[in-house]
Amino acid sequence: MPVLMKKETRLLHAGRNPERYHGAVNVPVFRASTILLPSVAAMESGGRSLFEGVRYGRFGTPTTFALEEAVAELEGGVRTVATSSGLAAISGALMAFLKSGDHLLMTDSAYAPTRKFCDEILAGLGIETTYYDPLIGSDIAQLMRPNTRVVFTESPGSLTFEVQDIPAIATAAHEGGAIVMIDNTWGVLNFQPFEKGADISIQAATKYIVGHADAMLGTITTASEALWLKVKSSVAAFGHSPGTEEMYLGLRGLRTLPVRLAQHEASALTLTRWLEKRPEVERVLYPALESDPGHAIWKRDFRGACGLFGLILKPASKAAVDAMLDGYHHFKLGFSWGGFESLVIPTGGHSIHRTATQWRPTGPSLRFHAGLEAVEDLIDDLEHGFQRLADHS
Ligand SMILES: *Cc1c(COP(=O)(O)O)cnc(C)c1O
Repeated sequence: MPVLMKKETRLLHAGRNPERYHGAVNVPVFRASTILLPSVAAMESGGRSLFEGVRYGRFGTPTTFALEEAVAELEGGVRTVATSSGLAAISGALMAFLKSGDHLLMTDSAYAPTRKFCDEILAGLGIETTYYDPLIGSDIAQLMRPNTRVVFTESPGSLTFEVQDIPAIATAAHEGGAIVMIDNTWGVLNFQPFEKGADISIQAATKYIVGHADAMLGTITTASEALWLKVKSSVAAFGHSPGTEEMYLGLRGLRTLPVRLAQHEASALTLTRWLEKRPEVERVLYPALESDPGHAIWKRDFRGACGLFGLILKPASKAAVDAMLDGYHHFKLGFSWGGFESLVIPTGGHSIHRTATQWRPTGPSLRFHAGLEAVEDLIDDLEHGFQRLADHS
């Protein structure tokens, strides 16, 4: 076997075992709750071995283990736990390490449901969250307390696109005795979290890993076996196990992730460069652009980008912006991202809920996902949109 294999190649092999499945290229969909065990002794063995091998559907089947192996490869981590959604991965990872009386540092740019989980569920359990400026860097040391257990990052923020200095944050967090988690959904293949100091990396696999807008799935990958066991125990205790069909779709999506992602990135670059020059546009939020404030850190830490970017328009009426969005042919209105189809959402009018920092763009803000349509068609769609914006102003 060749010694060197690039990540794209390794992702084609990861988790597969055709010899075991009659030569079938893909790992089958295992439909199982009950697993028949050979003896009472096997049944009674508890503890850690509960999570090794196939024992009960909720703890995982060969389909689960194939997906987990492949995602560990993608993230460059030691082991992965699959969950029923991206949000279940976030809540599952947080609950594995936080208990009453603990303190959590959460980026102010976090995905809104992550914030809601902290404010509603963690607060109710006596776990305190302090939000911090995503651009804080090593100054996060000043926010660390003796009971700070977790520092949570998301880079770039999926609505506001601030690129975080993960190595600086991780160094300070580790010095203070906390572990570092990252929501790596935007970075997916292009940010190697463990090389940059993270201990736990989360994917909303619903987005680029599944890649076709047809399944909900999440993953939690860890830097060590010991962290994995904590996460696995917690996720199993909550019962966050994903459906087998969803895991199959995740595995299937993963094989083509590198080529899809390259196209999403290329289209987003073309679109953002075009948008930057438009008179209707105040600012484009996309770290791969040289003009983006996060570009230097992005260039240092990422090996590429994806199809998701933000846009701040010059001041315009809501009616005009709504007409622009309602009339798009290719940029459909819908939540989520990472599928083959282009999407757009308005991102909270003139402000986004923040507590540590302010987010007050000077005009309407939007978020786009560049899908796999020909980029000429997407530009044409945007151009007609600006015409509607003008017509309704
Ligand atoms: C969508 C998303 C999630 C949540 O994933 P679901 O599968 O929808 O639960 C988490 N983080 C980010 C950055 C996301 O975009």
